[in-house]
Amino acid sequence: MIKEVILMLTDIEEGSLIVVKDPEKKEFLKRYRKEFGLSDIKVLGLNEFKKKYYFDYTKEAIFWVHKKYGCIKSIAEMYLENLYFIKDGIHSQKIDLLREIKDGLTERGLLKTDELFKASLQSKTIVLYDLEGIDDFYENMFKEISNLTKVVRLEKSYQEKGLTPLYSFVDAEREIEFVASKIAELIKKGISPSKIKIANVKDDYTFSLKTITKDFNIPLELQKNETIKSSKLIKSFKEGYKDNLSTAIENTRELVHTPRDEKIFNSLLDVANSYYWAENKGDIRDFMFEDIDSIKVPNEKYDEAVKTVDFLSSTFTKDDYIFLMNFNQGSFPDSKKDEDYLSDKEKLLLGISDSIDLNRKISALARKKILSTSNLVVTYSKKNKKGDLYISPVYDATIFEEMKYSREFTHSDAHNLKELIKEKDENRKYGTTTDTLLTLRNHYDGSPYMNYDNKFKGIAREKLMGHLQNKLTLSYSSMNTYYQCAFRYYLDNILKMDEFDSTFETTIGSIFHRVLSLAFKDNFDFDLDWRESIERETFEFRDREKFFLNILKDELKFIIEGIEKGMEYTELKEALYEQKITVQIDDVTTFKGFVDKILYTKDKSIAAIIDYKTGNTELKLDNAYYGLDMQLPIYAYLLKNYEPLKDAAIGGFYIENILANTRDPEQKLTNLKLQGYSNSSIDILSRVDKNYENSKIIKSLKMGANGFYSYAKILSEEKIDCLIHLVEAKIREAAANIEAGNFEINPKKIGLKEYGCQFCKYRDICYKTAADTKKLKEIKKEEFLGGEQHADVD
Ligand code: SF4
Repeated sequence: MIKEVILMLTDIEEGSLIVVKDPEKKEFLKRYRKEFGLSDIKVLGLNEFKKKYYFDYTKEAIFWVHKKYGCIKSIAEMYLENLYFIKDGIHSQKIDLLREIKDGLTERGLLKTDELFKASLQSKTIVLYDLEGIDDFYENMFKEISNLTKVVRLEKSYQEKGLTPLYSFVDAEREIEFVASKIAELIKKGISPSKIKIANVKDDYTFSLKTITKDFNIPLELQKNETIKSSKLIKSFKEGYKDNLSTAIENTRELVHTPRDEKIFNSLLDVANSYYWAENKGDIRDFMFEDIDSIKVPNEKYDEAVKTVDFLSSTFTKDDYIFLMNFNQGSFPDSKKDEDYLSDKEKLLLGISDSIDLNRKISALARKKILSTSNLVVTYSKKNKKGDLYISPVYDATIFEEMKYSREFTHSDAHNLKELIKEKDENRKYGTTTDTLLTLRNHYDGSPYMNYDNKFKGIAREKLMGHLQNKLTLSYSSMNTYYQCAFRYYLDNILKMDEFDSTFETTIGSIFHRVLSLAFKDNFDFDLDWRESIERETFEFRDREKFFLNILKDELKFIIEGIEKGMEYTELKEALYEQKITVQIDDVTTFKGFVDKILYTKDKSIAAIIDYKTGNTELKLDNAYYGLDMQLPIYAYLLKNYEPLKDAAIGGFYIENILANTRDPEQKLTNLKLQGYSNSSIDILSRVDKNYENSKIIKSLKMGANGFYSYAKILSEEKIDCLIHLVEAKIREAAANIEAGNFEINPKKIGLKEYGCQFCKYRDICYKTAADTKKLKEIKKEEFLGGEQHADVD
C-alpha cells in the first residue's frame, strides 16, 4: 500500500503527474488552474494512465478480434478491456482465451505500448488524487509503480457536518416537486442557480424533472448527453453510405443547417477518420455505424443553471447546495453484480476486486460523502409504477434526520394549475375531493378546464430563421404537404417529427431506381448491378421478401427491355439520369428536385422529363391551382430551370410506372407507357414520339380525323408556360408563408375530397376541429390554363 498521504493541493510538487478519476479530469484541471495558474503538472484520468502504463489498442485491434473470433464489436471491446487483468500462471478457459487474443494482437503490432511514458515516470512524483474506492487492480498497479518512483495519495479531507435531512415521498413526481420548490426558494433568497446541484438523476426522472423545473422557472442543465443515432443527419448518412464513404460524407455535409447539425457532422467525421487504416471501407461499415450510434452530443451548457451531477465523482464546495434524489435501493449507489466476463472467482485469483469488494468500497465512499457534504438534502420515493421501492442500503438512522414536509403551492402558478387540472380530473372520474383540490380551486377560481384552443399561436420570424440557419429547402413533397396543411408541414419539416423508416416497398423503389439509372449506360451488367444495388441497402430482408425479390428481378429485366424498345420511337436519344436540379427562389429558399431521366435531341432543341414511379401519382392538373398535386407541372418547371437544357422546347413531362400489378406481358408493356402531358405542337411531338398519332409509348395519345382524342393529354406551349408560371408562383407563395412562420392548422377539402388529414400521423397533436378545414371550390384546369385545344372525335 502507498502510505504517504498529503491533504493540500499546495503540497503537490512541481513536475508531478496527478491521476484523477476519468470523469473528474476536466473539472480538476479547471479548479487547479483557477487556483494556481499554469504550472508544471500533468493530469491523467485513471483509465488513461492505465493505457499509457500497460498498452492501448486501436479500432484496428477491435476489428481484428471481431474477424478472428467472429464476435460483435461490443464483445471484441470487452475482450480487449479484460486483457489488462491477465497474469502469468493463472489459468481458466476464459483467461486462456484472453491470453491467446493478447498474443495474437501483440504479434500483429496492434497493441500500442509507450516506453517513453514508462521511462518518464521514474523522474516524477505520482499523485493519486481522491482515488478512494478504486478497484484493487489499480491499487496493485500503483504499488508496482511505487517501486520505481514516489507515489503519494492526495486525499480530500472529509469533515463530518452533522445529520443530513432525509425526506420521503409517495412517488417521484412529489419528490421532484419538492426539490423544485426548495430550489425556487433558494433562488428567491439570492443563491445563484450555478451553486445548486441535483445528483443521481436517472433516466426515469429526466422527463418529469425537465417539465417541473420549467414550470418553476428554474434553468436546468442536464448532465445527460443525447446519442445522435436517431438524428436525421445520421439516418441519411447511413442510407447514403453504400460503398463510397467520401460521397456519403459529402452528401451529408449538405444537410448541415444548424449548430447542432454541425456538432453531429463533426463527430461523424471523427469516427470516419478513425478508420483511416481500413483498405476496404465497405468492410468496416457496420463497425463504423456502431461507433456512430454510441456518440453523444453534449447538451447546451449554461453558466447560470442548476446542474445535474454524479454524486460520488463530483467535488462540491461549502457554498454549494446539493439535492441527492432517488436515494433508493438499486439506484443509489450503483451496485455491481457478479455478471462480468470474468467471474468473481476468477477476479480473486487475478488479485482484482470482485463485486462484493467493489460494493463495499462504493458504499463506504457514499457514506463518507453524505456525512461530509454541506447543504445536502437527500430524498427518496416509496413507489413507482412497478410497485414498492426501498431505501438505499447506505441508509443508516445515525447519519440522517428524517423530515416531514407539507406541500407548498407558493412557487409556480404553472405547476399549481397543472396539479389543479389533475385533481379536477380525479374528481370528475372518481368523485374524490382532496385538500389539494380545495386549496387550489379556491385560489385559482374560474381557471379554464375542459376547454382547449388548438390554434397554432405563431412563431417569431427571427426564431424560425435562427432555427433554419436562414436556409429553407423546398421540394415537391414538402410543398405539397404545406398546401395540404401548413401545420402538418411544420411538424414534418421544421420540427422534423417524422422519422423515415425503410420498408420493403421503399427499398424496392430504391433498388429499381438505381439499376435503371445504370441500365442504359456503357458497362451495364444487370446481375452485378442488381446484386450491388441490394447490398447497398441497409434493410434486412425476411425470407419471403428474399423470395419476392427474385420475382422482382425478372420484372426489372422485362422493364429495361421494354424501355429500350420504346426508345425506337423517339428522336430524343440523348439521356441524363438521376439529375439534381436546384432553383434559388429568394435569399433564404432553394427549391430542389431529383429527376430520374431527361431525354433530349442531340441539338438540345427538344427535351422531355421522365420520373420512374412505383406508386400512384395524380395526373390531373385541376388542384395545381391550390398548390396541390403539382408533381407533373414541377417536372416542367425543373426542366425549364435546368441550365444545360433551359432553351429546349419541352416535349413532354411524364411519369413511368415501373411496377405492374399483372403477369401478362402485354399488360405490363401497356403499364410501362409514359403518363403525363405532351407538347401539342406536331413539329415537337413528332420528334418525341414518331407514332404520336397512335402512340405505343405515351398513354392515351391518339389522333383521329379531327385531331387528338379527348383523353389525350396534350398542352400547347403557351399552356405549358402558363403552368410553369403557376408552379413558380406557388413555390414563392409557399416560401414566403413558411419564412413568415404561417403554420396554421388548415387541412383542405376540395369538393367532397379531403386533403391533408388522410394518412397524417399528427391527429393526436393538432386536435383538428371541423372549423379548421378550409373548404375550397372545385376548379378545372381549363379555368386557369384556358380551354382545351383538341377536337373530341370519339
Ligand atoms: S391531422 Fe389534419 S389537421 Fe392535423 S396536422 Fe394532420 S393534416 Fe393537419
